Amino acid sequence: MDVEPVSLPEIPKEFSEVFEVKNGKRIFKTLIGDKWVFGSGDKAPVISPIDESTIAYIKAVTPSDVDTAVIAANKAREAVRRLPVSRRVDILEKAAELIEENLDILRDILVVEAGKPIHEAEGEVKATAYRLRLVKQECGKLDDILIQGELAKGTEGKSAIVIREPLGVVAAITPFNYPVFTPVAKIAPAFLAGNTIVAKPSSDTPLSLLFLAKIFRDAGMPEGALNVVVGSGASVGDSLITHQLVRGITFTGSTEIGKHIARIAELKRLHLELGGKAPAVVLEDADLKLAAEKIIAGSFRYAGQRCDAISRILVPENLADELVDNMRKEAEKWTLGDPRRPETAVGPLINRRALDKVHRLVRDALDRGAKLIRGGKFESLYYEPTILDSVSLDSMIAWDEIFGPVAPVIRLKNREELIEVANKSRFGLDAAIFSKNVQDALRVARLIEAGEVTINDMPRHGVGLFPFGGVKDSGIGREGIGYSIEELTELKTIVFNV
Ligand code: NAP
Repeated sequence: MDVEPVSLPEIPKEFSEVFEVKNGKRIFKTLIGDKWVFGSGDKAPVISPIDESTIAYIKAVTPSDVDTAVIAANKAREAVRRLPVSRRVDILEKAAELIEENLDILRDILVVEAGKPIHEAEGEVKATAYRLRLVKQECGKLDDILIQGELAKGTEGKSAIVIREPLGVVAAITPFNYPVFTPVAKIAPAFLAGNTIVAKPSSDTPLSLLFLAKIFRDAGMPEGALNVVVGSGASVGDSLITHQLVRGITFTGSTEIGKHIARIAELKRLHLELGGKAPAVVLEDADLKLAAEKIIAGSFRYAGQRCDAISRILVPENLADELVDNMRKEAEKWTLGDPRRPETAVGPLINRRALDKVHRLVRDALDRGAKLIRGGKFESLYYEPTILDSVSLDSMIAWDEIFGPVAPVIRLKNREELIEVANKSRFGLDAAIFSKNVQDALRVARLIEAGEVTINDMPRHGVGLFPFGGVKDSGIGREGIGYSIEELTELKTIVFNV
């Protein structure tokens, strides 16, 4: 792939304490308590998927650094609890303002570290600021509730106030694909509810969160309220999860790691947003042009590296030819290339491991009789937007998460089969249904096992106004405005004998 050499953008002087320059390369620090410090572990490269070059280094933290971070967060609990909720809102709104002021640098970092097309990167940064501006809407969740004891025998003469309390220290662990939005969607409700946070970004995209941490501190977050630990999940993640002072874990990432976390977390509160395998269920009377447009966008956007990506298209045999033909035409609009170019719609995959997996799934489907309509090839980390037709149900791609720009079409006999195959997946995050008959679509939506079903559009979680989250292997709990806060708090009941 013909791309210009990649380097980190010029960094404004406000962020100068976040890194040091050695031999012309920036080495990033991490925030523990009120200090920007180098982790005590190994230096690790941050590699841009655009050309696989090293754009910076981080110094990984060790389990002992994790301990220091958790202790700092634990110490900050009192200070955060003493802040009135209105002050916490002010801080989060100030952070939104600073994110908007630093839109260009946050966007450009996101483009080079994640390989996200520039217009999508800009959209993510703007959505993050907007998410912070919406925190006011979730304050109502923190209201106390009064319950009259007269309503049941045995509690006459008593009343109870039910209050929502923070969990304490919360670990927020995030994946590579939305490194600006996802950490903030966890940090904002956690802090609003009075928790303190130790956040761990993905090793593929650690830089965005370091910039955000600086912004949160500048916005007025008290010392220790937000700490960041960088380094590999296996050592940093595990020591964070098992730390005795961590009371809650909010994790977004793969099902495999989510299950591992659930195994080692013991009785800590868990909020797990995991993998997906969204089906597009095309019903008999669907508008096939609209369906093709949304299915292609749902499969190819950000190179399919989204938990809500459409990754299997279930269609009755008699509609399949026309749908596939429309999809092929629609796919022409999705230009593969350097994510820094405004005309690029599909950029590189995040790393070699991801690319190998995507190609393995495509090869396996072809070996089992699928027809290659377009794509199927790659150059460096750039995988061609691919359409496969007549994918058989014994192919791995029919069941595994792809996380690449591939749209596998599975031809089925009738509606019963569409629903049966949709529900046979171990995942249950999102689904899309295409039909001109809304009542009919609603009937099918009720039968689909998923946390969110979208009718006549691609699934997209957006800023989280609608709750999202998974059933089955896609997770536990719901994320969103007013919903995440429930996952990050406990109810306490205070009973008055009046
Ligand atoms: P991943 O490999 O599961 O990593 C997610 C995070 O977990 C990273 O920070 C990773 O750190 C960390 N981690 C790895 N091993 C760990 C361990 N033993 N203990 C604690 N933490 C550990 O996922 P990914 O490849 O970054 O992201 C893609 C996955 O995320 C997909 O499955 C996607 O569906 C899912 N996702 C779900 C949602 C949702 O809302 N449901 C949203 C976005 C993404 P390292 O990077 O250092 O390994």
